[in-house]
Amino acid sequence: MSTQIILRVLALRHRLRQRDRWTRPRLEEHQSGALHRLREHAYARSPFYGRFHRGFTDRPLEELPVLTKEMVMEHFDELVTDPTVRLADVEAHLATLSGGDELLGGRYRVASTSGSTGRRGLFLCDPGEWAAVLASYNRTFDWAGVGAGLTHRTRMAVVSSTAPWHQSARVGASVSSPWVPTLRIDSGDPLERIVERLGGFQPRALVAYASMAHLLAEEQLAGRLRISPDFVFASSEVFTEQARRRVEEAWGKKPFEVYAATEPAGIASECEQHRGMHLFEDLVITEVVDENNRPVPSGVYGHKVLVTVLFSRTMPLIRYEMSDSVRLASSPLCPCGRPYALIDGIQGRVEDVLRFPAASGGQTSVQPIVFHRVMDAVPAGGWQVAQGPEGLTVLLSGVREGFADAALIDSLRRELGTQGVIVPPVKVRRVPNIPRTTVGKAPLIKSYLPASEMLRRNP
Ligand SMILES: [Zn+2]
Repeated sequence: MSTQIILRVLALRHRLRQRDRWTRPRLEEHQSGALHRLREHAYARSPFYGRFHRGFTDRPLEELPVLTKEMVMEHFDELVTDPTVRLADVEAHLATLSGGDELLGGRYRVASTSGSTGRRGLFLCDPGEWAAVLASYNRTFDWAGVGAGLTHRTRMAVVSSTAPWHQSARVGASVSSPWVPTLRIDSGDPLERIVERLGGFQPRALVAYASMAHLLAEEQLAGRLRISPDFVFASSEVFTEQARRRVEEAWGKKPFEVYAATEPAGIASECEQHRGMHLFEDLVITEVVDENNRPVPSGVYGHKVLVTVLFSRTMPLIRYEMSDSVRLASSPLCPCGRPYALIDGIQGRVEDVLRFPAASGGQTSVQPIVFHRVMDAVPAGGWQVAQGPEGLTVLLSGVREGFADAALIDSLRRELGTQGVIVPPVKVRRVPNIPRTTVGKAPLIKSYLPASEMLRRNP
C-alpha cells in the first residue's frame, strides 16, 4: 500500500473517531452538508443526474427518483463525472485484473458486483474515494478494538472471494503491507484445505462470510480446527442466531457482524455492546423502505434499502437501490453513546422471499426469517432451503448425530401452515457441502423456479 494512501486513511480514521463522539444533531448537520455537496457535484459534473433529477434539484432526498444498478450500467458514460472514462475501457481493464493493485488510467480502482441478481455492476473509485472505502472497512476493526487496524501488526485471515474483480480482493491487494500480515483464502476452496491453512497461520483476527464463520466454528468445536482468534467478523451473508451462538462457543468471543457491499463499502457494523449494527450515517445515508420506496418504521423489516453514498464523486450514488431486507432497531439508543442509528436484523435479500400458493387462493410470500426460526434449531454446520417446481428441498451439511430429518420436515410443514400457504412437499437431503456461488457464498434460501414461473409469482 502506498504511503500516500496510508496517510490519507489515517487522517480519515482520526476524523471518523471524532464523529463517534458527536451528538445526533451534529451528525445530522454533517449529513445534510455532505448531501448538499454531493448533489451539487453530481448536478455540475454528471450529465445523467442533470437529466435524472431535473425539476427535483431543490427537493429533499426522500422525493428524489430511485437509482437502480440497471440504470447505472445503462447510462454509465454519462453518469460518471470524469468525461474521459468510458464503460468499454472499464470493462477491458477489468478483464486484465490479476489480483494486484492495478489502476485504470493510473487513477481508478475498479470493482464489480457479482451479478448474482441480474446484470453485474461496475464501480470506480478515485484515490480519495478509495481512502474512504478503506477507512469505512477499518472502522469495523476499530470499533471491535483490533489494535490500530491498518497499521499495527495484527495477523488477519480473510476467508471470502479472491476473484480479482471482487471488492474484498481489491481491498486486500490495496492494504497488503508488512504491518498487516494477511492470509487471504478463497471461500470456495475445500473446507479441509481452509482449516489446514488457518491452523498454520494462527490469525488473531478472522474475517469470513457468515456461513463460513459458522462452518469454521463447527470445525473448531469438532477439534479439527485449532485457532484462537481474539476477533471474529462475519460479513456479506445472513448471520443466523445459531451461527452467532456456535462462533461464541467455539472461540469464547462475541462475533462482530458487518454489513457492507461493493457500491457503498461499509454500511454498518457492531460496536462492543453487540446491540445490533450501527449505520455509518456519516458516510452513507441508508433509507429502509417498502416496495414503493416509502419509509418503513423501526422494528419492521423493509423490502429494500436505498443508499446515498456521501463520499461518492466519480460515480455519485444517490438513492441507489439494494435488495437487502433489514430492520431498524426499535430502541435506537446504544450505551456506547455513538450517535448512529442501529439496525438489529438483516433477513436477506428480497430474492430470498419465497412465494407459495395461498390456502385462501392467490399467492402469499414467506419471509426468510420464518425459515431462519425453524432452521436455527437444527444442529447442522450449514443449510439451504431451495424451492423448486416439485416443492422444497432442504440441504443439510455437517449434521450432528442423532438428528431426525422427519422432525425437521414436520416443523417446516407446521410453520408454513401457520403462514397460510398450501404446504408443498418437503424433503431433506444430507450433502457434504452446501453449494457455493461464484464468489464463494452459500445462500440460505434459494429459488430454482424457472424465470417465467418467478415472474408469475413475483409480479
Ligand atoms: Zn453501540
